[in-house]
Amino acid sequence: MPNPDVDVIIVGAGIAGLTAAWRFLSEGHSVAVFEANERVGGRLYGYQVGERAVQLGGRWTGPGQDRIKSLAAELGINICANTTFSDASIGRAGEDAERVAEAVHKLDEIAGQVPLEAPWLAPNAHELDSQTLATWLSTNCDPDIASTVGGLLAGFLPKASDVSLLHTAFYLHSNGGLSGILGLNGPAHDSEMFDGGAHQLTDRLGEKLGSHIHLNTPVTQISQDQHGVRVTSGDLEMSARFAIVALPPTLASRVIYDPPMPPERDYLTQRMPIRGKIVVALLYDEPFWRNAGHRLVETDRLLLWDEGGDQNPAALSGLISIDWSRELWNIPAEDRRAAIIDEVSTVLGPKTRQCSDYHEIYWAAEPWSRGCNSYMTTGAWTAWGQALRRPVGRIHWAGAEISPQFVGQMDGAVRSAETTVDAICSLIKTS
Ligand SMILES: Cc1cc2nc3c(=O)[nH]c(=O)nc-3n(C[C@H](O)[C@H](O)[C@H](O)COP(=O)(O)OP(=O)(O)OC[C@H]3O[C@@H](n4cnc5c(N)ncnc54)[C@H](O)[C@@H]3O)c2cc1C
Repeated sequence: MPNPDVDVIIVGAGIAGLTAAWRFLSEGHSVAVFEANERVGGRLYGYQVGERAVQLGGRWTGPGQDRIKSLAAELGINICANTTFSDASIGRAGEDAERVAEAVHKLDEIAGQVPLEAPWLAPNAHELDSQTLATWLSTNCDPDIASTVGGLLAGFLPKASDVSLLHTAFYLHSNGGLSGILGLNGPAHDSEMFDGGAHQLTDRLGEKLGSHIHLNTPVTQISQDQHGVRVTSGDLEMSARFAIVALPPTLASRVIYDPPMPPERDYLTQRMPIRGKIVVALLYDEPFWRNAGHRLVETDRLLLWDEGGDQNPAALSGLISIDWSRELWNIPAEDRRAAIIDEVSTVLGPKTRQCSDYHEIYWAAEPWSRGCNSYMTTGAWTAWGQALRRPVGRIHWAGAEISPQFVGQMDGAVRSAETTVDAICSLIKTS
């Protein structure tokens, strides 16, 4: 490939892919972004309804998440306090708060010993990686505390019985510890948000990148040799000096690579599933729940919160549990909406049925996301973890899953993009 079409092709127009493309352009390099979906943003998704920004994907930020905040400032997006979710922490543990805090500190002690760049080098890495979070909870906590701690983690990790304890510890360390996430020693990890919604970040990057982005262009194959890469989507084929695959690892593994990925990369991506829930927004003419002192609606099957503010319409948004999401997705849409509103009405009463508008997304069913967050199953970090961030020839990786810091968050996605851009810019300079 002596005269490549562009310097770098980026696969995926989520926050990681778009940040990478924007940084390359700013450095004077040519780029093309291939995006499978009809929109940019990936797991950031939202839109305006009247005065209200309805957000169905990633949304909050917090202390230390400096890269996403710096990007927001560059794009002219203000950060404001998150007043919607402040009760969704250990306070929900009620009288058990002290015992829950004990378990949190024990987990944080383990987490603090996991090196973020190389979790497989943690003391007792194999022991931690051979058990799930559920095993640890059941041997270290009373059943009621295990269930509360599992519930607190369920917002950002999968079921405790699915995820490796080593991965849990890495995730917690990467995000400031469970104490930091819950805000036990200061503002919580979700104590801030983006004025107008987090999707503004990717919408604005998309506008800046304009015709460099090819929408409705799912990449099916990437070939490489010592000179460059060739990226294919249907009839469209383009060459470049380097490619960045900015997809969740499990989706990255669905692309055909020629030559094939080394076994360790393939084994790793087989062990990095992604899980997703239904996210809903219920809109109302009045925030009637506030008069009765409700800011959160929590049942065994859902967690919704008041979106706050005086914007019209008022809104309740939130998450349906993984199990109920799966069940609900198999019934007709109108029955699903009725079932969710019924469930909310068990807490907020009959006025819940005066819902003026209803929005939903099931992330697991989104063909180009297939879920909200990825994780590692037992044994993955210790056996194959070194393949996560290592480039394969001219193919590099980016995305929320790749970053040592703030893994799984928008901030981690931006960090991974910036690190990868720096690495490729150095290679371009020296070649
Ligand atoms: C419901 C929910 C709540 C969340 N809450 C928060 C939060 O409060 N704070 C926070 O920081 N993070 C949160 N997150 C996580 C955050 O949204 C993600 O970590 C981040 O947006 C991931 O960005 P990314 O660029 O790495 O990946 P993605 O956003 O997944 O981008 C990947 C892109 O690749 C595209 N694609 C897939 N396959 C192909 C292909 N073959 N060819 C071309 N394109 C392809 C996809 O369409 C997508 O646009 C949340 C996520 C969800 C879903």
